[in-house]
Amino acid sequence: MAYEVLARKWRPKTFDDVVGQGHVTRTLANAIEQDRIAHAYLFIGPRGIGKTTLSRILAMALNCEKGPTTHPCGECDNCKGIAAGSDMDVIELDAASNNKVEDIHAVLDQVQFAPTHSRFKVFILDEVHMLSNAAFNALLKTLEEPPPYVKFIFATTEGDKVLPTIVSRCQRFDLRRISVGDIVQRLRFICNAEKIEITDDALLAIARGSNGGLRDALSALDQLIAFKGTDLSEADVLAVFGLVSREALEGLAESILKGDIPGILRTVAALDESGKDMRRMTAELLWHFRNLLVCQQAGAELAKQDVTAEQLAVLEAQAKLAPPQRIVEISSLLSEMEGKLRAALSVRTLVEMTLIRCARAAKTVSLDEVIRRLTALRDQTIRRLAAAAPQGPAAAPAAPQRAAPPAAEPPRPVAPPPLKPEEDLVPEDEEELEPCLLHTPPEPAGATSPVPAEPLQNSDGQYVDEIVNITLRLFGGHVRI
Ligand SMILES: [Zn+2]
Repeated sequence: MAYEVLARKWRPKTFDDVVGQGHVTRTLANAIEQDRIAHAYLFIGPRGIGKTTLSRILAMALNCEKGPTTHPCGECDNCKGIAAGSDMDVIELDAASNNKVEDIHAVLDQVQFAPTHSRFKVFILDEVHMLSNAAFNALLKTLEEPPPYVKFIFATTEGDKVLPTIVSRCQRFDLRRISVGDIVQRLRFICNAEKIEITDDALLAIARGSNGGLRDALSALDQLIAFKGTDLSEADVLAVFGLVSREALEGLAESILKGDIPGILRTVAALDESGKDMRRMTAELLWHFRNLLVCQQAGAELAKQDVTAEQLAVLEAQAKLAPPQRIVEISSLLSEMEGKLRAALSVRTLVEMTLIRCARAAKTVSLDEVIRRLTALRDQTIRRLAAAAPQGPAAAPAAPQRAAPPAAEPPRPVAPPPLKPEEDLVPEDEEELEPCLLHTPPEPAGATSPVPAEPLQNSDGQYVDEIVNITLRLFGGHVRI
C-alpha cells in the first residue's frame, strides 16, 4: 500500500476525534441530533487546525447511510467516498483557484440537480475569501434560499475578507488554535500507535514550532522520522527546525529579568552561531513572557493550559523576579522588535540591542513606581509631622506643614490673616484698573492677598524640593520618565 503521510492517515473521522474545537463539534452534533441543520456553515481559523476535516466530518454525518448521525460509521460507501474526496454528491472546490464568477455559475448549475445517491448535495468551498466580488454576488441568491437538499460549507483563513452579506447567511464558527498541551497529547497518542520512541521535550518542541496547527505538527513529525528514524530526541527536533531549546529560552528570559547583560550577549551569540532562527526565537520569547504575565496575574491554574508541568515550574519561579508592569514593558519591546526584524540588515544586532533594553526595563524604576513610592513617603512624612505637632506652639491647622522646612528663611511668626470677602480686600478705586495683577507679585505689607496662598506656596515648594532630593537619593538617578 502507498505511504500516506501522518496528517492524512490520522485525520479525524468523527466529531469526537477533532482536537481542541469542542465548542464547534458540540454545536454541530446538537444541531444534527435536534434536526436543526442550517443550509450554510462558515468555518474560520488559521491553517492546519481542522477546517477541512470538520467540513468532511459534517458531510459524512449528513450523508452516512446510517445517518444523519453524530457518529458517521466510516464504513459505508458514502463515508468512504467523502473521506477520500471522491463522492459524487460532496463537491469540494478550492476557491483560491476557482474564484471567478464563471466558476460559481458552474457550481450553481450543479445546485439544480438533486443528489445522485445521498440525502444531501454538499458543496465545500475552501479559502472562500478568495472569491471575487462578482462571484460572491452570484452566490448570494442561492445561498439565501437553496433547495432543501443542498448544504454549503465554507472554510477560510481570513474571515474579515468574506463579504458581510455572505457571513450573515451562514452559521459562523471561529475555530481556535490548538493548545500546546492538546497537540502534545495527540502527538503522544499517534507516536504510541506508530511505535515511535520520542521524548516529552521533543514533542513539546514540535508543538511549539507548529503555532497551534496540528497538521503542521504532524508534517514536522513525518519529516523527523524521515531524518532520524523512529527514535527521536529534543536535539533532533531543534536541529531540523532551527528551534531554540526550552532551557536556552528560559535561561535567556531569566537573564533579562535579572538584568544580566553579559549573560544575554553570551546566549544570543551562541544561538546565532548555531544558526537558530532569530525571528522564531523572538516569537517564542514573547510567548514565554506572555505566559509569565498570565502566571502572575491569573495564577498557575490558567497558565497551565498553554504549558507543560516543567515549564510551569520555571514560570512560577521567574514570576517572582519582576513585577507585572515590567513584564508588560519587556513584552512590548519584544513585540516592537518582532515587527522590525523583517527589515533589519543585522538581525543579531537588533536582537542584542532590544534584549539589553529589555534587561534595563526589568531593572529600571518606572515613573508610575516613583509616584507610588513618593506618595507613600509623603503620607508617611505627613503622619510623622502631625504626630510631632502638639509639641510646638498651638497654631492654625497649616502649622505642621510649615514646621518642616529648615531655617532657609526666617519662619513667619504670624498666622495667615483670616479670610475676608473679596470685595473687602481690594480698594474700590483700584478695582477696575488692575484686577488680574493681584495674584502674581508678592504684595507689599499693606495690601492683602485675596487668598492666604503665600505661606502654603512656600511650604509646598520646599516640600517638593525635599521630595526631589529624596528621589535622587532613593533611585540614584535611574529614573526613566
Ligand atoms: Zn457511513
